[in-house]
Amino acid sequence: MGCKQKFFQKSLTTNHTNQHKPYVRYHLIFLVLLFLFLSSCERPEYSRIDVALGTVCTVTLFDQGKNSIYNDIFNRIREIENLMSIRITASDLSRVNASAGIEPVQVHEETFKVIKRAVYYAELCGGAFDPTVGTLVSLWGFNGGTPRIPSQEEINSVLPLINWRNIELYPETNSVFLTQHNMILDLGAIAKGYAVDEAARITKKAGITRAIIDLGGDIMVLGEKKDKGLWNVGLQNPDDEQGITIGYLKLSESAVVTSGVYERFFIEEGNRYHHIFQPYDGYPVNNGLLSVTIIAENAMDADALSTAAFVLGYEKGRALIESLPSAEAVFIFQDYTIQTTPGVNLVITDKSFN
Ligand code: AMP
Ligand code: MG
Repeated sequence: MGCKQKFFQKSLTTNHTNQHKPYVRYHLIFLVLLFLFLSSCERPEYSRIDVALGTVCTVTLFDQGKNSIYNDIFNRIREIENLMSIRITASDLSRVNASAGIEPVQVHEETFKVIKRAVYYAELCGGAFDPTVGTLVSLWGFNGGTPRIPSQEEINSVLPLINWRNIELYPETNSVFLTQHNMILDLGAIAKGYAVDEAARITKKAGITRAIIDLGGDIMVLGEKKDKGLWNVGLQNPDDEQGITIGYLKLSESAVVTSGVYERFFIEEGNRYHHIFQPYDGYPVNNGLLSVTIIAENAMDADALSTAAFVLGYEKGRALIESLPSAEAVFIFQDYTIQTTPGVNLVITDKSFN
């Protein structure tokens, strides 16, 4: 538009004795500018950072990153957000919750797939992972409200609503029914991972072989570094500000997802209260762990497993991860010790951890 305005201003002041030449010249300039503008749309970008799924998303496509591919990726992330976010009233998830105790709700097949996977993990880990924790998340004010410690009576009143067995799935119609009134399904522990997998799928489909997708700490690295070396993925210090790392994981072609006490929390009377709950008593996980990081082939599974292992605690969490063929884990404890499964390639740079 700006270019067009300039062009008209200039053509109005052109010399009448030589009318056509300036017109052609400015037309050409306009076309060249238009070409440069369009080609700049396709110029490789180093990274794109945007807010989606309630978090900061950073996608870095190497080699042939184009605006159009970044657009496809971020549009896809927003589609998933519109289906699975608890904060969007018209999302599939909100519709399922609004009909809790009333009737089954038909959802998009993707939403159905993610809910089904969440139920699978709930069963696999005996309910430590439970996507029906939504009432607890709200009660403790981690769903947009003011975080606070609820009374024991309030906690007792919502505990009967937390039970993944009260999710009924109807695969013939992709319908979901929460059997109890006021139940709240929450996909916060798994949906981001699914979005990472979808972003990776689009990236690969576009022919990009080297990329880093980071949706608020749920990470996927594709390919290797340019020199064929492994990527270094920073491991967050769970006891420090976001972005401060204790070291890095060396890997290629993997998902890396962490669940920890540092993502959303408040401190009262010296105690930290965070957003991952023990479904059996309604309190934030307090088992000596600060964080659990899972390395796996896909991010949806890594996401569910990081939450599950964090809630299960070190012994049971490690047993769960070791029972799975392609998952590895890093456990960081409150006393700053670290345990890893055998396949982890971790370089610790912060010497207060060992
Ligand atoms: P993540 O960061 O992946 O561990 O997910 C944490 C989010 O999952 C929280 O913000 C809650 O929305 C939800 N959540 C909390 N506790 C649990 C739990 N025990 N099982 C499943 N989801 C949970
Ligand atoms: Mg998770």
